[in-house]
Amino acid sequence: MLAALPKPETERIQLSVAHERILTESINARIDVPPFDNSAMDGYAVKAADVARANASAPVRLRIRGKVAAGENATTHISSGECVRLFTGSPVPHGADAVVMQEDTKPDPGAPDGILICDSARPGENVRRRGSDVQQGAVLATAGDALTAGRIGLLGACGIREVTVGKRPRVGLLATGSELREAGQPLAHGQIYESNRSMLAALIEQAGAIPQKYPLVVDSLAATQQALDTALRECDVVVTSGGVSVGEMDFVKVAFEKLGGELQFWKVAIRPGKPFVFGGCRGKFLFGLPGNPVSAFVTYLVLVRPALLHWQGATNIGLPAESGALAEPLANPGDRRHFMRVRLDDSGQVHSAGQQASHALLPLAIAQGLVDVPPKTTLAAGKIVAVLRWQ
Ligand code: AMP
Ligand code: MG
Repeated sequence: MLAALPKPETERIQLSVAHERILTESINARIDVPPFDNSAMDGYAVKAADVARANASAPVRLRIRGKVAAGENATTHISSGECVRLFTGSPVPHGADAVVMQEDTKPDPGAPDGILICDSARPGENVRRRGSDVQQGAVLATAGDALTAGRIGLLGACGIREVTVGKRPRVGLLATGSELREAGQPLAHGQIYESNRSMLAALIEQAGAIPQKYPLVVDSLAATQQALDTALRECDVVVTSGGVSVGEMDFVKVAFEKLGGELQFWKVAIRPGKPFVFGGCRGKFLFGLPGNPVSAFVTYLVLVRPALLHWQGATNIGLPAESGALAEPLANPGDRRHFMRVRLDDSGQVHSAGQQASHALLPLAIAQGLVDVPPKTTLAAGKIVAVLRWQ
């Protein structure tokens, strides 16, 4: 699927609105950060040699040459026996090589322009050297990196205002099934409330893509073809739920082919979600998910989410894994990989989220991750497993 998808289209956006977007450029620092030597404390800039022997019972008296606030330019030059009043972030004046924090000083009762230094200082103490965080030229981020809050902070400190990122794909969401009703409508016998579109929209937004919901689609070839045609026209990617199984009421595959789409594969050896289908149609793509809510959820996470991140240029497209010890065995007697829903408790133990049936939403609501249990395998209690987390 990844090979079939196009190279990311890019756009230039303000850093201030770039949270969770994917960089498509690498960025190097154009300046040193901090850009000048500055104080890590409120205190006094000194020559360390002057106060090398200072202590509480034998303080060293220094003459205060002046004061430099944060944001001011330090023009003073201090000589031996002198100091300058500084605050956190103030530039360190020429001639000074250390800062004594205010708590280690006392006013000099004998002289209003003097201060008593009650502790020694090593050269460099409490001074944040120019470039000690970031040196000019350093790699700040690489193409494919996500713009996390921390990275946004780093780029901001380096004076970056705009970044080049992958465009967000627009993802059309179709739900097929003549039994489906919208919330607010009464349910006749045989009908159920549709729940996949909102659930998938939440996951699609989490992956940085733009979900677009379409009206419910009844189980007929004509209705399915029409809905798919509209969604394929208006969106980059279409995600359907339902109608991809083997029944004669499953119309998604044939409708897609009638529109000129080419199915690349159908059916994946995983549980839940076996009837997943993928195809391309004139540069647009179909991800056909099974209708059972848990199957739709799992196939989205395992098969669609990586594709949507790849579309935006991301390098890291897998779900983040967290390891934990199983509180109880997880058994998969079947012949397909079973992505079982689990929850992690406060002590990091991994529990089954409840019944592992593909229609069961109550367990899904308390689950935080999936454990990939190989075919014909029981993972014993106590075993350390990787939990693929979506929250
Ligand atoms: P299908 O994949 O169309 O055979 O549907 C499998 C099961 O999922 C059936 O029980 C459907 O009623 C149910 N289902 C299909 N689509 C949805 C949906 N959008 N919301 C809730 N349940 C659904
Ligand atoms: Mg159906």
